[in-house]
Amino acid sequence: MNKAYAEQLSIDLEQQGYSTAGAIEEADLIVINTCVVRQSAENRVLHKLESLVSLKRSRPDMILALSGCIVDTDVTDLKRRFPHVDLFLKPGESAELLKLAGSRISVEGYRVVCRRYSPTAFITIIEGCDNFCSYCIVPYRRGREKSRSLQEIEAQIETLTEKGVKEITLLGQNVDSYGHDLPGSPDLADLLQELNTVEGLMRIRFLTSHPKDMTLKLLRSVASLDKVCESISLPVQAGDDRILQLMGRGYTVRSYYELIGIIRDSIPDVAISTDVIVGFPGESEQQFKGTLNLLADIRFDTVHVAAYSPRPGTQAATVFEDKLPLHEKRRRLQEVEELQKDIATEINARLVGSSVEVLVDGRKGERWYGRTRTGKLVFFDDNIDRTGQLVVVDVRKTSAWSLQGELKPERI
Ligand code: SF4
Repeated sequence: MNKAYAEQLSIDLEQQGYSTAGAIEEADLIVINTCVVRQSAENRVLHKLESLVSLKRSRPDMILALSGCIVDTDVTDLKRRFPHVDLFLKPGESAELLKLAGSRISVEGYRVVCRRYSPTAFITIIEGCDNFCSYCIVPYRRGREKSRSLQEIEAQIETLTEKGVKEITLLGQNVDSYGHDLPGSPDLADLLQELNTVEGLMRIRFLTSHPKDMTLKLLRSVASLDKVCESISLPVQAGDDRILQLMGRGYTVRSYYELIGIIRDSIPDVAISTDVIVGFPGESEQQFKGTLNLLADIRFDTVHVAAYSPRPGTQAATVFEDKLPLHEKRRRLQEVEELQKDIATEINARLVGSSVEVLVDGRKGERWYGRTRTGKLVFFDDNIDRTGQLVVVDVRKTSAWSLQGELKPERI
């Protein structure tokens, strides 16, 4: 979401005549766009702000703005601690910054920037979350769910496709509850149906889904709409019912398994990724083993794992005692990572000898890269820049993290 916001802000600022500075010391405008879902991220932001005091003192005309979820409804404390910051922007807000930035740019300094758009873009379709999982700061910082209208999203995507974007990822903390707050209550399946008709758009993804909100209607749409990719992001968080209950997730291990079965039956060759938190307050070794067993049984394509850290203001931080030592949390995290590395290695190895469709994203070092419909990263050699095109790659080698192959002569 932050990526989508930063991308849109860059586009808006470029339209005003700004371009990217070579170094932070040369910038006329600095935006620190924050994600503070973890305490360590918040600490880094605070440190960064402190490090900019002397720069702002030496260049008082420079605009310094702080955006994202560190900016709460009440900014009194932030203003007191960081008086050198000119603007505090709540998540997704940019109007005030664009107004101030527009008033500072000089006509002589204006130069048109020709932006080369990446073939892939992220678009926020619903902000905030109504779920209040006990460990999560998002509903407090980003507020309640607020969907953007179908027309607004479609118009934004049409503009992007005109500029060369071929794949969009629709974003929401809880993307499956899209539309319930809009007139007529359209849902995510309706939005996908609509976007599937956008000319020039080749692929559509969406994340993140909540296990308690996923519907059969949505799965049928993913299966039947040609542009919607066979890729589902479905955080499980833990493999133990008591821990899930303490987390306030609203489903059980059994119902999660059943949902995975339905997804796999509905969408052939679907790739499923998940998120896991280890070391939640009170998580015993046996409960942690429950998570390992679930991961070994379900065999996800990708697992994002985090060690629990209390976020002040959340229910878990207020009510539960975080007694598990850090080294134990790290051990559990590492066990998950090792297990998942083996699983991903095996899953990807099965693709050796097959042909995959890749949307070319760009170049890394000497090699071109892109992703399959299932989100797998693919590297290949080519002497032509085919960024933004669909190509077919014969898979020759794989690892847990990527595939490597040879470009097939005929393109799609
Ligand atoms: S659903 Fe996700 S964003 Fe919402 S409270 Fe739970 S963890 Fe946070």
